[in-house]
Amino acid sequence: MSEDQRPAEFDRYARQISYPPLGLAGQRRLAESRALVCGSGALGSVIASTLARSGVGHLRIVDRDFLELNNLQRQVLFDEDDVAAGLPKAIAAAAKLRKINSQIEIEPVVADVDHTNVLELAAGADVIVDGTDNFETRFLLNDTAVKTGTPWVYGGCLGAEGQTMTILPGETACLRCLIADAPPPGVSPTCDTAGILAPIIGVIASIQAIEAIKILSGNRQAVSRSLTVVDLWDGRVRQIGLDALRSTVDCPTCRRGEFPWLSGERASQGAILCGRNAVQLRPSTAGTISLEALAAKLSAVGRVTRNRYLVRLAVEDYLLTIFPDGRAIIGGTDDITTARNLYARYVGT
Ligand SMILES: [Zn+2]
Repeated sequence: MSEDQRPAEFDRYARQISYPPLGLAGQRRLAESRALVCGSGALGSVIASTLARSGVGHLRIVDRDFLELNNLQRQVLFDEDDVAAGLPKAIAAAAKLRKINSQIEIEPVVADVDHTNVLELAAGADVIVDGTDNFETRFLLNDTAVKTGTPWVYGGCLGAEGQTMTILPGETACLRCLIADAPPPGVSPTCDTAGILAPIIGVIASIQAIEAIKILSGNRQAVSRSLTVVDLWDGRVRQIGLDALRSTVDCPTCRRGEFPWLSGERASQGAILCGRNAVQLRPSTAGTISLEALAAKLSAVGRVTRNRYLVRLAVEDYLLTIFPDGRAIIGGTDDITTARNLYARYVGT
């Protein structure tokens, strides 16, 4: 068979092979490439589905969370049967992705990405794509990507707004060039406190997916050099060039080679409180939380009580007690991953 004859197993990709910048050569490269998708919730659903349909040869899908009914509004890989089965998202996602494309390898991992496992999870990846819901993990991914020279695609959404940027280590600005540090706990709104509309997920995740496809298909020159910010409610799209940032910011990560999230220096600490069915979490970023503002933010999601020392949130079967320094005791679980998940959702990191 000649080099430019399409093999039969590529018939399913005929429509994208016809697109000249991708072509058969690009499709072959996609088939030989590996992507790490961190998070298989809202963004991760769209990203993983698109990459699987496009024929990326190996997808590793990592997620720490379990499915709930309120996920179905925006997490398009899942259905009511998955929720009823109470499956971890990574497992349910892999089952669905295998039905979408049986020719590729799908590797689900149910885990909380942290400094102890991220290098192993990212090993061999040609691109890392962000489907996470918190800045601690994103700064960890940024450290990992820059340290290992792996391209990665950041994305985040809240309400009807989202943003995304692509990081080519050594070539473009990194996340820390753009955002100097992770926001302190309790300051940023989260999807659980500020809400999230499904269409912005589709927009941002689709941009992330095409950026990954450019990288994996050998089209790095086509990668966006801008931060893209989209507000679907106001109908605004902004492109903010990042070239100037790279030349002016004395970035601790890509200029000075400091990787505090990867080294564990900035890792949040979790400890099971014996005999109490509770976990204590200490955030990685120090800060002083306004208990009044936090209580106001949380009043939309559960029953909130507050005194001068703490805020307490009763939600689902859990009791979250949050102190002004960001420390929290998550009652109702003895699982650190579940506790971190609840913290990211309601307090926000
Ligand atoms: Zn940087």
